Amino acid sequence: MNPLFGLADLHTHTALCRHASGTPEEYLAEAKRKGLACLGVSDHFPAPAGYDADFRMKKEEFRQYSELVSHLKGKGRKIGVEVLYGAEFDYVPGRMDEVHQALEEAQSHGLPKFDYLIGSVHYVHGFAYDDPDKVAEWQQYGADQIWEWYLDDLYKFVKTEQFHILAHPDLPKKFGFRHSNPAYILERYRAILRLASKKRICLELNTCGLRVPASEIYPSPDLLQIAFESAMQITFGSDAHKPEYVGADFDAAASLAMSCGWNDVIVFHEGVPSMISLRRR
Ligand SMILES: [Zn+2]
Ligand SMILES: [Zn+2]
Repeated sequence: MNPLFGLADLHTHTALCRHASGTPEEYLAEAKRKGLACLGVSDHFPAPAGYDADFRMKKEEFRQYSELVSHLKGKGRKIGVEVLYGAEFDYVPGRMDEVHQALEEAQSHGLPKFDYLIGSVHYVHGFAYDDPDKVAEWQQYGADQIWEWYLDDLYKFVKTEQFHILAHPDLPKKFGFRHSNPAYILERYRAILRLASKKRICLELNTCGLRVPASEIYPSPDLLQIAFESAMQITFGSDAHKPEYVGADFDAAASLAMSCGWNDVIVFHEGVPSMISLRRR
């Protein structure tokens, strides 16, 4: 049997973010081809002025995004793939009021409610640490410092915000730069993941990590163990910026999740979670 059959990919992008390619229909066709039950579209949500404008849709493009996903939901129904309406929003320290306001506006004026929101930390101290063009700056700050900044922000993000899915929780490993003290890092994550669990935030297994120098799913097996012990629930995301990556390596994600002890993954419909079994395929 197809090991991906009936799974859900809750983290995919569209060309509106300016760094993804392919049409929404091509992403949907790939979901169908791989046997997925759900395709979640979760493009980068518009951010406050001056923040990362080149890598996300503009505020005035949001309605187009919303219509695009609604349209795709209809197409998905015809071929038996459920399309879910999500967004990936960023933690922007000191400017979350603006983000909240934008999120509220995005679900008013007759626009549909999101099925779920993915929360991400892509910047620390104004540094786009995951940008391949900025790898040289890692040397300048030092890996320990960048990890420290990242974990501080991740903790604050989880503590102060409410969202459904924590994305790629150890993204700073992308280019292979690790903290010099792994035990310290695990302790920091223990506090963050416990708190996330208490707030019913799910943890994403993001297979994009397998396609970058880290060569490892986000998060690492160590962190997954902590998440399992903290009773967190999980989702799967490919972070596809190209149609061919929809559902990529979900067989690896499913094996890893089951080896840690999970039997199910979560999907959301207008914020309401439901489970998909990992065992029946
Ligand atoms: Zn991301
Ligand atoms: Zn993403």
